[in-house]
Amino acid sequence: MGHDRPYHYTPVCDVEGCDEPAVYKVAADWTDGTQRELKNYGVYCSHHAHEELEEARRRQPMVRLGPGELVGPVQLYELIEGRRDAELIPVG
Ligand SMILES: [Zn+2]
Repeated sequence: MGHDRPYHYTPVCDVEGCDEPAVYKVAADWTDGTQRELKNYGVYCSHHAHEELEEARRRQPMVRLGPGELVGPVQLYELIEGRRDAELIPVG
């Protein structure tokens, strides 16, 4: 998956038909008790990020978790080149 690799490319918004560069990631803190990472809900341009954040928050209660898994609130993270997921700071 490579979700924890440094970010060195320009992703495109995940909304179908939108080809704006993605500047935000919608994600939630996830842990299974031993490791912690971001559960990625998608990356979006500045126009779509907020509505997709709301949508991900509505969908989150349906996500099934395994034993010992915990997921934090869905938040908006600014994508910063060269920064790993674990170093991203929520902005909304
Ligand atoms: Zn978009």
